[in-house]
Amino acid sequence: MSTGRLTIDLEALAANWRALDAINTVETAAVVKADGYGLGVSPVAHTLAQAGARRFFVAAAEEGAELRAALGPGPMIGVFSGHMAGDADLIRDNDLTPMLNSVDQVLRHFETLPRQPFGIQLDTGMNRLGMEPAEWAALRDPVLQQIPVLLMSHLACADEPGHFMNAKQLRCFREMTDGLGISRSLSATGGTLLGADYHFDLTRPGVGLYGGRPFEDARPVVALDLPVIQTREILPGETVGYGNTWTAQRPARIATVAAGYADGLFRAMAPNLDLWHGDTRCPLAGRISMDLIGVDITGLGDAAPEALSILGPHQGVDDLADAAGTIGYEILTSLGARYARSYLT
Ligand SMILES: *Cc1c(COP(=O)(O)O)cnc(C)c1O
Repeated sequence: MSTGRLTIDLEALAANWRALDAINTVETAAVVKADGYGLGVSPVAHTLAQAGARRFFVAAAEEGAELRAALGPGPMIGVFSGHMAGDADLIRDNDLTPMLNSVDQVLRHFETLPRQPFGIQLDTGMNRLGMEPAEWAALRDPVLQQIPVLLMSHLACADEPGHFMNAKQLRCFREMTDGLGISRSLSATGGTLLGADYHFDLTRPGVGLYGGRPFEDARPVVALDLPVIQTREILPGETVGYGNTWTAQRPARIATVAAGYADGLFRAMAPNLDLWHGDTRCPLAGRISMDLIGVDITGLGDAAPEALSILGPHQGVDDLADAAGTIGYEILTSLGARYARSYLT
């Protein structure tokens, strides 16, 4: 085995969905865009369907088609980007439910697929996707005659519970949707944790399912072990890796492990990262290169480790994100294609 081993714990994924579902008294969907946040949309969606999810969301119609092939008929598959030009066949053939974002999309949908279920995405202040209050006011009556299956919006700052934007968007969403008698959804993972006011009829968690912040109680879903290709002894004053950025201060043992920035382990993670062997911390030595990382394993004594852990019990997705100055979402969706993936059920 010469590539990293990525282990995806589907039991933990299902447990995270159940835990988020238990937080609210309404229906809980599952967001599986970007190949199930990088973990493989087919096994992820099967697991979540088995756990009880009946509505799924993806970003694009193409993803929806792949998801439909995996899930078969039945579950709703919502598409956040709505009904894009040229997508009518994809939407109809795979029974997708586009979340229509604009007047153009509404007209396109009603013209090409008048009988295909749809939702409406409303902009409540994030200014990313959805109809503005004025557009919605103009279009609301004709749209309501066609009976959308969902009215939804998305929170910009839900991972900061005290942020004024949450209450502001909540108020705006209510103003746009109160009293219409149509099913509503406002919250992803962060909003689900803000409390019942934010739950409406359906919550749409993504990152929390996969073990990421802001769902602090999540069970970790991914583990990543990197095989050691070789080890060497070096003397004080010797350097490791590109640019000579790491110099041994004492006699040291260096392991070279098989993964690098081409596998989603960003260069920016160095030097803020450790690998682990059991409970022993093994600091990074030098820069992360494309396929290789140097690790100071002096602390292991004479042991000859076959692999070192970079994602595991001592270090999770958000720790890697912190080391790189990014968020867990980006770590997950950057997980490399070279890893040997195995799924725990
Ligand atoms: C990605 C996304 C979600 C899921 O968000 P998480 O923060 O991962 O829970 C929900 N709704 C929309 C519109 C999204 O784009």
